[in-house]
Amino acid sequence: MAVGEFELIERYFRQEAGALGVAMGVGDDCALLNVPEGQQLAVSMDTLVGGIHFPKNADPELIAERALRVNLSDLAAMGAEPMWFTLGLTLPNANSQWVKGFSQGLFRVANEYNIALVGGDTTRGHLSITIQVHGTVEPGRALMRGNASVGDEVFVTGPVGNGAAALAVIKQELEVGKSAFNYFMDHYYRPQPQLQQAKTLCGIAEAAIDISDGLVADLGHICEQSVVGATLHLERVPLSEPVTKLVPFEKGIQWALSGGDDYQLCFTVPPSRMSQLEALVDQKRLQVHHIGEITRGKGVTCLYNGEEVSINTEGYQHFDSKG
Ligand code: ADP
Ligand code: MG
Repeated sequence: MAVGEFELIERYFRQEAGALGVAMGVGDDCALLNVPEGQQLAVSMDTLVGGIHFPKNADPELIAERALRVNLSDLAAMGAEPMWFTLGLTLPNANSQWVKGFSQGLFRVANEYNIALVGGDTTRGHLSITIQVHGTVEPGRALMRGNASVGDEVFVTGPVGNGAAALAVIKQELEVGKSAFNYFMDHYYRPQPQLQQAKTLCGIAEAAIDISDGLVADLGHICEQSVVGATLHLERVPLSEPVTKLVPFEKGIQWALSGGDDYQLCFTVPPSRMSQLEALVDQKRLQVHHIGEITRGKGVTCLYNGEEVSINTEGYQHFDSKG
């Protein structure tokens, strides 16, 4: 890489030594990491391309926040504890103001969730950010998509549909007041990975997934991998207050089912563990909405007040490069 870029990394991405398990971080040919004894390493990667996954002219601090947060959401969906991450940064030019803002947003999130940057790569090209996260989980405790069984109950951890609403606002398809605008932008750029709830759910939930493609598509992934079906009761699917206020139920539920970018967890609990789940909810250690059940068969069936409805699941719509 060019000298200027090397200096940028030294200045903005070198972290102080001392992070847990890091024998060598940024600065050598490889990072050297000590995986705690008796733990499995959970590894996941997500790429965000400028103009597709976020507007190119978005605030670099917010781009960084979103990039790391969506990766942390994958660790949450597995029930893993964040440990380390690497960063692949492709930039059209080495703009030091941009990189400074990006690194501020990045480390704000990294410090909040106690995850250490241990390396990466920097190249020139169309704006794109790849993050690979590493977490740890006890063998046998990971929340896997393939673990659902017929008779399990289906839950989500919070409102769905905000991601699609935010996208509509960004694409100027939906006009909103200042407070709703701020609410949706915060949701879009600063999604909250459900790490705490996921940890509490280990040992109680069987299958889990984070909702990035839309509730129906993501619950559908659980169904495929577990070789089961699922029934969703649409009147029980939680929508946020701003969505409820802004659009009719039909629109809100469409966003919830097929929008994506929500980053709540969808998970299943067997009947034998329902009392444990309820106790945790009573202790306010979990926030859950009971939205359906796992059935024999295939795919996701939607009922509204008991009547089967067909829904249009065009699936996730990317941000396009208009902005
Ligand atoms: P190499 O030529 O061996 O790939 P580089 O010059 O690309 O090495 O990187 C030098 C050091 O800087 C490595 O430790 C690498 O992990 C780190 N690094 C490069 N780019 C980034 C980045 N965007 N974020 C964090 N660390 C980075
Ligand atoms: Mg390199």
